[in-house]
Amino acid sequence: MTLRLSLLVPHDSVEHPLLLHRFQDDRIVVREEFADLACSGCNKVDEAAALERGLPSGVAIRSRRPISLAADGFYLVTGLAKSQLQSLFPDRISYYPLPGTNHYVASPRTNWSPPHESSGYQFEAPLCPVCQRWRGVYFDNSPSIVPAVGPVLSIVMENGMGACPIWVTTEEAGTQVAALKPPLSGMAVVPREFLAAN
Ligand SMILES: [Zn+2]
Repeated sequence: MTLRLSLLVPHDSVEHPLLLHRFQDDRIVVREEFADLACSGCNKVDEAAALERGLPSGVAIRSRRPISLAADGFYLVTGLAKSQLQSLFPDRISYYPLPGTNHYVASPRTNWSPPHESSGYQFEAPLCPVCQRWRGVYFDNSPSIVPAVGPVLSIVMENGMGACPIWVTTEEAGTQVAALKPPLSGMAVVPREFLAAN
């Protein structure tokens, strides 16, 4: 069955901060405090474990928007955006403070990684033999399989650095997000067709 849902996608901005990584010379490397959480096969960090451990201090967030995106894939929200999201999605999203800032990483409590060959997704090899994560996972152009959304979940995409979650919500909740006052600027609400998994 085809479902019409809404993606909640942070806008691109001039500068996306790195949370679990840092620049060293011209390369992006894993921060020392998370080195033990990096996979020995592909060097991707176990993001959930890193969030539980706590985020580093000294990260500069230049975006003035209530919602922005970290270069390593996390959704960043201000304290005000956090309370707005908490009222729309009570108990559905976890918030992890970013020390020294008024921002939090926000992460839906339901995270779903599409199994290999799920329709509507593209899987980029190699598959890491150690942690079983693909190098890349992306939407393709056809409707993508999704489990029950109820009412927000994150589909865990991948790029070479790690997870790139994309939030998916019901069309009704997407309309509520778009109507928030003050506006949740920085977050685009994008309709997309999915296929119900069962
Ligand atoms: Zn790995």
